[in-house]
Formats: sequence, structure tokens, C-alpha cells
Amino acid sequence: MALVVQKFGGTSVADASKIKAAAAKAIARHQAGDQVVVVVSAMGHQTDILVDLAREISDRPSAREMDMLLSTGEQVSVALFAMAVQAAGHKAVSLTGAQIGIRTDSTHTKARIKSISTDHVRALLDSGAIVIAAGFQGIDQNGNITTLGRGGSDTTAVALAAVLDADLCEIYTDVDGIYTTDPRMLADARRLGSISYDEMLELASLGAGVMHSRSIEFAKKFGVKVVVRSSFKDIPGTLILAADQAVKRPVSGVALAKDEARITLEGAPDQPGSSHALFSTLAESGIAVDMIVQNVGQGGRADVSFTVPEDDLADALERTERVAKAIGAEGVSHDHRMAKVSVVGVGMEAEEGVAGRMFSALSAEKINVHMITTSEIKISVLVDRTDGPAAVKAVHKAFGLHDAGSEPVDATAGGSLPKSSPLEVVRRLEGMEDLAIEDCLLDSSQALVTFTDLPDTPGVAADVFQEVGRAGLLVDMIVQSHPRNGRAEISFTVPAESRDKATDVAHGIAKARGATVADVPHVAKLSITGVGIRSHAGVADRLFKPLADAGVNIDLVSTSEVRLNVIVAAEHGGTSLAVLRKAFGLHAER
Ligand code: ADP
Ligand code: ASP
Ligand code: MG
Repeated sequence: MALVVQKFGGTSVADASKIKAAAAKAIARHQAGDQVVVVVSAMGHQTDILVDLAREISDRPSAREMDMLLSTGEQVSVALFAMAVQAAGHKAVSLTGAQIGIRTDSTHTKARIKSISTDHVRALLDSGAIVIAAGFQGIDQNGNITTLGRGGSDTTAVALAAVLDADLCEIYTDVDGIYTTDPRMLADARRLGSISYDEMLELASLGAGVMHSRSIEFAKKFGVKVVVRSSFKDIPGTLILAADQAVKRPVSGVALAKDEARITLEGAPDQPGSSHALFSTLAESGIAVDMIVQNVGQGGRADVSFTVPEDDLADALERTERVAKAIGAEGVSHDHRMAKVSVVGVGMEAEEGVAGRMFSALSAEKINVHMITTSEIKISVLVDRTDGPAAVKAVHKAFGLHDAGSEPVDATAGGSLPKSSPLEVVRRLEGMEDLAIEDCLLDSSQALVTFTDLPDTPGVAADVFQEVGRAGLLVDMIVQSHPRNGRAEISFTVPAESRDKATDVAHGIAKARGATVADVPHVAKLSITGVGIRSHAGVADRLFKPLADAGVNIDLVSTSEVRLNVIVAAEHGGTSLAVLRKAFGLHAER
């Protein structure tokens, strides 16, 4: 007898007949001899309707009352779902988040799960009932109703699957799997047979709305086998798996985050502590920053740029301006009409020229790239919001994702997922959804090349990385800062043994464009690895502070959900490793 969690999204329970059809799926599983927990979202667009209603009453409704209001959507759908199961002659019990015992912190409208008690659900399952759990909601220590953030029912489902040690978590939705990009935006998108946790985590957090990214954090931490499939078509869908079981492609998918804003702290004193001052102030209000880019300081001053979701712009801007005054920076600029386009693939690390291909595709469409950041498995670029869809299309095509054909799905793949012992993971965490830091690594094998004074015109990054790719150089980190006065700065790292070749190529490129090149033959790259690194506000700052305290200046930063990388001077490598291990509670270097 297996235990299966089935989650039905809003469209899958939009009306009475859809609720009956979804209930039939749960009953079929139950009749096949499995224990079934169903997690249900609010019907159709009910949550949007409630949000609009609140806005009609107040411009700034309190977050506590929003949660009280929004949680009603799921309370309606679980009751109806349970009635549908009962009407078909089977036992069912509906439960709210509080009744299950989903404990969260008190961050209303984006609460994180701390713990889930399983006794009640298990007793009901053992009594032969199908348990219908309300998605998206929990209860804090003072008994207040909380919600997990829009799209949070996925997180309820995977978290329940984790604590119940379920054999499978099925996400039923209105698409028949995970696609190479949003199939509603690009008809050429193709369904993937499987995808790794890390890739899905990045795609979800970089804008692919199909899964709540925090649900994938749970899936990865607790080794939950997840399948995303259609509520309406009986086909197997896409499996989300551990990296060693998924196909390694240089690029698996393209994501668009279309509501991004960029802020630049201009002319900040280029010294340890400036970044800490900025990012600690942002972290205080729980703003998750992305695409942090600091240009190489000139005249003792540097620009620090980063992106935030547009909703957080006003707050982030106000805080950045406050910091600018406090540290004596020259000013603050911002732009709210930005979009972030990202390509994600676990096989990208080992393949030359991936970045060049992406930038060339954008350049061919005359799309200007304002900022670039990369990590081992993703490349993100910031473009004008109006260029977003065209950028996705161009990049999707450049990697041949359109003609890959939908992959056949092997429903038995990943059947014997090696589970990371949930108990062991929980022991390392204070709460189930806490940040999980796995390791801190030092890589002293790279050289850093920086172009300054590049003209800020479409195609510059493309030219640079096409030539670098043609020279056969395996590029690791790439960072392009926000341009000032029409000039851009691009830095990248290569293996130290390729440094001579890289600087030759770089000088050639620079000469043709009136730019200058600087290089550092050896730098130290420090990486913090784990789960939830970008989604937990303030992680970057936990790294900036100890490095600033130790007097270490950071040259480059890149963030992703599973990794945070910084480049510092080679001579600071050892000290940095020691202070970071201590700051993140890791044991002494192994
Ligand atoms: P549900 O209400 O079932 O939770 P969502 O609307 O949250 O459904 O998620 C499904 C939607 O996600 C799809 O209709 C699709 O438009 C969108 N989507 C975005 N990116 C992708 C992708 N890479 N693959 C599949 N669907 C995607
Ligand atoms: N009903 C909530 C929302 O619309 C949660 C969910 O559907 O996952 O965001
Ligand atoms: Mg959803």
C-alpha cells in the first residue's frame, strides 16, 4: 500500500463538475489500495477575486486580515471536495491548515512552514478516509491564520508528502507537465519527460509560475518524488528528480520574470562593509534581492546594482536611499520597467559557448542587455520589459528547444529515489522550511578578466562571449554591471591556466571597442551551497558581514537558489573560507 499526495490547482477545481472529476481521481487511487491525501487550492480565480475585494475596501489592508480572507477560498474547496467523495460513497474528511497542525512563522501573506504534525492525518488515513487538506494556509504560534504566498498550495502538498513520507506527490494542473518555457507564452515550448530538483528550483524562482518554488525546496531537501501532470488529460506528465536521475542538458528551460525593477547604489565607497550596510537594511524587511552586481571600483568608489520584484521597489528604494546617505554614496538610480530572462540547465557547466549563444540570440533581435549574472546552472539577463517575450522566443530557439519534441515520459523512472533521510535533515533545521546550508567551498583555480568602458550597445556581450567561446575558453562566472554614462563593465572568470589565452582574446576585443582590460591571474572563489539561498532574504548579507568584519573586499557576487558565489583576492581565500564556515555554522574545513 502506497501513500500518495494529490494536489489540485484552482483551474482543476473551478466548478462542481471539475471537483467531481478530481474527486474521481482520488477515489480511483484509494480503490487501487493506496492511502490518499488530497491538497486543494481555491476554486478558479477565487483568490484573485478576494484580493480585488480587499482592495475595494482598503488601499493597504492589514496582512493579518488578508490571510484571514484569502484562507477562506481553500476552506470552500476542501469542503466541496470532501462532499464529492462522500457523494460517491467513500469516506472523506476535510481539514484546514490549523486542523492539520501546519505551524508557520508569523510573516502574514508569505509565511514559512515550521512544522507539521502528522498524527491526526495518519489516524484518519488509517480509518480508511481520504483526507482533503486545504492548501496555502497554516497557523502561527498565536493561533493566527497565515498563508504561504501566492501559489502556495504546491508547497503544502510537497511538505505534507515530506512529513508523511509519501511515495509520490502528484501535482494536477492545467498543463500536462513542465515545459521548456511557459507554453501559454510560446507555442513552440515542449514538454520535458523529467527535470532535476535544482533546475526546477531555479526555473520556478526565476519566473516559471508552474510550481511554487518553495515546494521544490521541500522536494529536494526531503527527496520527495514529484510528478506534474494534467487534470484533464490522462498522460503521465513530468517527473521532478534528483540530478543524478534526470537527463543532463546544457539548457532545459527558459524563464521570464516580467515584473522586475533595478536599483543602483551609485558611487559607494569601495571598501568592505558597503555591501553589508546595503543588504542588511534590505534583508530587514524580507526583500529577496537578485542579480547583485558590483562593478570594479574606480577612484575608490563602486556601483552596486541589484534587482527586486516590482512590488518591493518602493520599500527597497527607500531603504537604499537611506543607506546611500549613511555611507556617503553619490546617489541612487532605479528603473521599474525591467524583465529578467534566464536559461537553466545542469549540463551548462561542462559546455563551452552557452553564454555566447544566448547573448548572440538576443543581439540578433537587437535586444539590449542591461545586466548579466550567472551561476553554475543558470544565466540571467536583465532586459527592458517590452523585450521580455521576444527575448524568451529568441533564446528558446537558439538552444534548439523548439524542435526537441516533447519527451516520452517513463512513468517508472525515479521509482527508487534514494531518500535523503528527512529526520536527519530536520535535525539540522530549526523549522522545516529554514534555509539549509550544505557546504562552503574554496576554488583557487580561476583567473578574473574585466573589461571596463565598453560601449553600452546591443551585441557587446554577444561579441565578447562569441570570441571567448571560439577561443575554446570555458567561462565560469559572468557579470555585467548596470551601465553608467553609456559605458558597461563585464567581468568573467576562466581556469587560471587559460589566463594568457583569455587576456589575449580580451585585449583584441577591447582594442576594437575602445575599452580597457584588467586581469587578475589568480582569484579565490567561495561558494556557499544549499537550498533556498535566494528565497531566504538576507543570506547574501550573512556572507557580506563576516567578510567585511575580516577586512575582505568582494570583487564579484552571484546568487542562485542553490548556490551563492563570491570572488575575492587570492590571498584572502583561506581566511574567507574560515570565517564563512564559522558564520554558516559549518564544521572546520575537512
Ligand atoms: P495551478 O492553479 O494548477 O496551480 P498555475 O497557474 O499555478 O496552476 O500553473 C500552471 C501554469 O503555469 C500553466 O498554465 C502555464 O501557463 C504556466 N507555466 C509557466 N511556466 C511553465 C513551464 N515552464 N511549464 C509549464 N507551465 C508553465
Ligand atoms: N489559492 C492560492 C492562490 O491562488 C494558492 C494556490 O492556488 O496555490 O495563490
Ligand atoms: Mg499554482
